[in-house]
Amino acid sequence: MIRLTEKERTLARRIHELKAAAGTHSPSISTFLEKVPEVELRVDACFLSNPHATDLVLDRLEKEIIRTGKLRQCIELYPSQNGVIAERLARQLGVNAGNVFVGNGAIEIIEAVLHNFVNRKVVDNIPTFSSYYEFVNDGIPVSFYRLRKENDFRLDIDEYVAFIERERPDLVVLINPNNPDGSYLSKVDLRGLLTRLRHVETIVLDESFVHFACEGDRERVQYYDLFAENPNLVIVKSLSKDFGVAGLRAGYAVMAEHRVRTLVKHGYLWNTNGLAEYFLKLYSSGDFQAEYEQARRRYLDDRDEIGAVLRAIPQINVYPSNANFFLVEVVDGSSAADLVARLLIQHGVYVRTGADKIGLEGEFVRIAIRSREENRIIVDALRASFEDAQRLAA
Ligand SMILES: *Cc1c(COP(=O)(O)O)cnc(C)c1O
Repeated sequence: MIRLTEKERTLARRIHELKAAAGTHSPSISTFLEKVPEVELRVDACFLSNPHATDLVLDRLEKEIIRTGKLRQCIELYPSQNGVIAERLARQLGVNAGNVFVGNGAIEIIEAVLHNFVNRKVVDNIPTFSSYYEFVNDGIPVSFYRLRKENDFRLDIDEYVAFIERERPDLVVLINPNNPDGSYLSKVDLRGLLTRLRHVETIVLDESFVHFACEGDRERVQYYDLFAENPNLVIVKSLSKDFGVAGLRAGYAVMAEHRVRTLVKHGYLWNTNGLAEYFLKLYSSGDFQAEYEQARRRYLDDRDEIGAVLRAIPQINVYPSNANFFLVEVVDGSSAADLVARLLIQHGVYVRTGADKIGLEGEFVRIAIRSREENRIIVDALRASFEDAQRLAA
């Protein structure tokens, strides 16, 4: 069991205060380094992003925007209007342009959807991405359907449908694969579930992690055909995690045309920016997608490799994940907070606790997948943390 030294405990308290100030999200790494300079950060395994994809985007940006002098246009001029960018994206996605809404990150879309398309009640599956309850308007109740760790956080479809029938929400949220646990409902099951939820006015399907989902093979799973069958669907896509570009703030959603019109009528005209628009153009280009596909598969290899190694560490229980992170439960009696502090202070490895996640009871940490080299550092740090603890106990 991990016991912190007096010095570690003092630092851990400061880290805890920073975390508290950031609410239900983690403090950004730059805030963190500024406020706790004693920590020498080696790996940020808190933030969920594919580093190989970031390399790819940066490389293109350097060649096509910086060296060509187009950066000036990107910052001097207004970006295209929402509808113009939507049109380009629609071609790539194989949907109608009128069904696409572009957001300043998916978070802006979540906010817009919750503020505009709920009159009665929201149902979220917990643990969840906190914005799905925090952004709900005052006076609108939120009911939580609990995903159980005994069931590897998998959704029990019959039980869930019964819950929805009892609660009568007008908006439900399905994040697939789910954050923070990585659980995944196969497309066949999802399709079946959606047909049983036709009576719900709005179903938000958050597919932000879908590029990491594997259904037997490594082909990319696509949900846009489900929208054709279920007009009550709002498919929300963040590009921050799979492309490793959270700083660009680029996301989009596919939804009924009348919903796009409602949102655009009240704002969001120029809600992107020059660099995000450039990235969305890249995203819509075939040769970039082909390169990205390699970066995606390479990252899935990295995930499988670290997953196997993590599973061999006896002090933790690793939950199955179809996302780019693993939710891990500490089972040797250590507190998750102490493990997080030890990893950070002794090894420079930053992971996230699950302490602020409602519906997550127990000692949980979420470990983001990084590159192969960084994954090794994470695993070595974990092993060393537990081995030190054992040595001290002996
Ligand atoms: C990170 C995340 C988002 C928000 O992503 P941005 O595009 O960066 O705003 C939305 N949904 C889920 C499930 C996420 O994990």
